[in-house]
Amino acid sequence: MHITSAFDSGNIEVIDANSQPVQLAIRRDNNSDFYQWFHFRLEGEAGQSYPLRITNAGKAAYPEGWENYRVCASYDRHNWFRLPAEYDGETLDFTVELDRPAIYLAYFAPYSWERHLDLLAWAQGDDRVQLETLGQTLDGRDMSLLTIGDADAAKHRVWMIARQHPGETMAEWFVEGFLEALLDEANPSARSLLTDTVFHVVPNMNPDGSVRGHLRTNATGANLNREWQEPSMERSPEVFLVRQKMLETGGDIFLDIHGDEALPFNFVAACEGVPGYDERHAQLEETFKRAFVAASPDFQTERGYDLDKPGEANMTVGTNWCGHQFRTLALTLEMPFKDNDNLSDPIEGWSPARCQQLARDIFLPIREALNSL
Ligand code: ZN
Repeated sequence: MHITSAFDSGNIEVIDANSQPVQLAIRRDNNSDFYQWFHFRLEGEAGQSYPLRITNAGKAAYPEGWENYRVCASYDRHNWFRLPAEYDGETLDFTVELDRPAIYLAYFAPYSWERHLDLLAWAQGDDRVQLETLGQTLDGRDMSLLTIGDADAAKHRVWMIARQHPGETMAEWFVEGFLEALLDEANPSARSLLTDTVFHVVPNMNPDGSVRGHLRTNATGANLNREWQEPSMERSPEVFLVRQKMLETGGDIFLDIHGDEALPFNFVAACEGVPGYDERHAQLEETFKRAFVAASPDFQTERGYDLDKPGEANMTVGTNWCGHQFRTLALTLEMPFKDNDNLSDPIEGWSPARCQQLARDIFLPIREALNSL
């Protein structure tokens, strides 16, 4: 039996390969205490069973994320299914019964850096898309922005950023689905939106963390979603560059796409705690949420985060900074690592295909919110 994670977004440490179960540990993000993302390949003998134990699960960033969690697995790196797992408050145990010589195991279906580059290359082939490099990350990767639509003619601007937390790969699956729908000439919702709206999309806010196999931080250990008040080129160039561009363009809707480790639902968090949160904010938020519920049975508003008290929002968070700075609708969209418990899927759980479908269903809420401006 052989385990490796020496590839794009790989993360696992083999503590003892000869014990039963095999003892594993998840590596921390560089310069940080956060960890929870894992991704590795196990090679063995087809027909054999391999019990595995993640020994440091209980001290991960979100231990409640392991409750009722099922491990993502794939033989071909395209189709991801779930394996049952047991969490006892300390360790996560699961068993792989090999049908083929090698299997990939991950916290959620990975979204590779190569796939990210493919997405940009595909998108730039459309005449309505402008691909722009805003600058470079600390590891020297490009920060890429896609602008879709006619910026001069547009009445409205929508910003969408994803994967500030690199282990939340569902966010980039969502963006891929969003871009495919937006550029689909047979999609009337997309065509109608593009008559009066321009979209600024950052498919990956944290390239270095993605490739390094981090859960939550960039190359130097900065949690980018706590950097929005005072980003710097030394510590958080990703936020610095995107924020600078936002200040140039402004916007009417800001969407920040994430995944939540613990809650088995799709939901949004708004900026109700920022100073100056007013009727306009509240009404846009209400319109958006109501339309999203109508558009997708995978979206709901009953379960989510506790609301911030008035004036007590953490202004270093992207959504709060945007909602306050531009005095408009800013939302964090959270998708589950586990499943949507209102509409669960026993084979795949929450999956890339479902992220992409949810993205197709976000056109209606965007349209309704823009109409109400
Ligand atoms: Zn997140």
